[in-house]
Amino acid sequence: MRHIAIVGSGPAGYYTAEAAQKQWGDNVRVDIFDSQPVPFGLIRTGVAPDHQAIKGVSRRYEATARLGNVRFVGNVMLGRDVSVPELQELYDAVILATGAPHDRKLDLRGDDLANVFGSAAFVGWYNGHPQFAGLDPKLSHDTAVVIGNGNVALDVARILAKSEEEFAESDIVAHALASLRGSAVRRIVILGRRGPHQVAMTPKELSELAKLTRAHPEVDPADLPDVAEDAALETGLRKSMAHLRAFAAGQARPGTDAVTVEFDFFGAPRAILGDTRVEAVEVERTRLENGKAAGTGETYRIPAGLVVACIGYQTSPIPDVPFDEQGGRFANVEGRIAPGLYCVGWARRGPTGTIGTNRPDGFAIVEKIAADMQDGSGKPGRPGFDALAEERGIEVVRFTDWQKIEEAEIANARQGAPREKFVAVEQMIEASHRV
Ligand code: NAP
Repeated sequence: MRHIAIVGSGPAGYYTAEAAQKQWGDNVRVDIFDSQPVPFGLIRTGVAPDHQAIKGVSRRYEATARLGNVRFVGNVMLGRDVSVPELQELYDAVILATGAPHDRKLDLRGDDLANVFGSAAFVGWYNGHPQFAGLDPKLSHDTAVVIGNGNVALDVARILAKSEEEFAESDIVAHALASLRGSAVRRIVILGRRGPHQVAMTPKELSELAKLTRAHPEVDPADLPDVAEDAALETGLRKSMAHLRAFAAGQARPGTDAVTVEFDFFGAPRAILGDTRVEAVEVERTRLENGKAAGTGETYRIPAGLVVACIGYQTSPIPDVPFDEQGGRFANVEGRIAPGLYCVGWARRGPTGTIGTNRPDGFAIVEKIAADMQDGSGKPGRPGFDALAEERGIEVVRFTDWQKIEEAEIANARQGAPREKFVAVEQMIEASHRV
């Protein structure tokens, strides 16, 4: 029998459990730990609330969770409840699938002013992550600046641009919906330090900006490279360019023009200005030099009352685990950190790729573990952890408890919405106690 602990119940964690099940069948016991009482990580608190089709992938993880030899162990936090060395004592292999829940730092003068947020916090706020539910961003100024040219910047801009009706079938949490209902934001500037050919935005996500009921995207035609240069781009980026060109040509102006989403290319943020709260972003014009953004010395200011930096994420360091500061992930060689200790998904390779990228990642790490690990090490596995949890008084939340939480969230949903999430751990635990 092999005993495996996976830390993190997001896509990387569940795909790895699925792979372990396929590899060892009845000869493996997998415990999937999560610091939250609820599973699915990024699917629940990262994927945009109006992307329900993407969230549907959690059905696949449910199928894995229901297998008798895979167990969800929620509400258990590394560092607080149990350490990595303790898990290593208990399990043959410990796999860190903790994702990349922290923001890469802007590191600019004024980035600590009020109403300047990183995307982990802002996305966590509208998605009801308990850590960020109390963020309370002020949407009282007419301009918001979203820094970065990736898909998260698009998510944030779209959420700020939508009307209340456009959230009807989403699971945006009530506090965010109430705040957006009263929002004064009418101009959303997506600031990219490089140009259209360097965006990390995918075509489908860009195309959504052309379908908003009260907002339209704007691209300055002067920022676009010669159309002939698009031919050399890889397919996805070429399709993204087609959308940006359509925006520049004014072809995406549905509904009213109440809100604009402006792409400001070749602009690097240099400082956030304000007294106690952000009042403007100072930007330096850039040009491309060897593919990099080089400052031109020309600066301008964008008056704004909200800044959301969507410039990428990093993994949280964990005591006793070597960390690669540069890459913002655990130091590893193809997922191997140390004997018996592995990482997978964003914790292994950094925050890149789609949700589906984590599936081959999960299968690859299980192959490596199979090559490294002998059967029958005699480690205690589940019973060992259960004894430790009892001794420490840890309130473990199981998958069946989560199903009660989910049932309550579905019952609390506003008309047309799939669920109304609990945003506090205590509420989740309380719901899990219901019969
Ligand atoms: P990302 O794709 O890495 O984009 C980060 C952006 O921030 C880049 O445009 C980067 O510009 C810019 N940036 C980095 N540091 C900066 C700085 N100091 N100043 C100004 N700009 C800076 O990251 P992400 O948007 O957080 O997305 C993370 C991953 O999740 C990606 O794989 C993404 O595709 C995925 N995702 C997918 C979806 C979806 O499929 N619907 C939704 C959300 C996220 P440079 O290129 O110049 O470095």
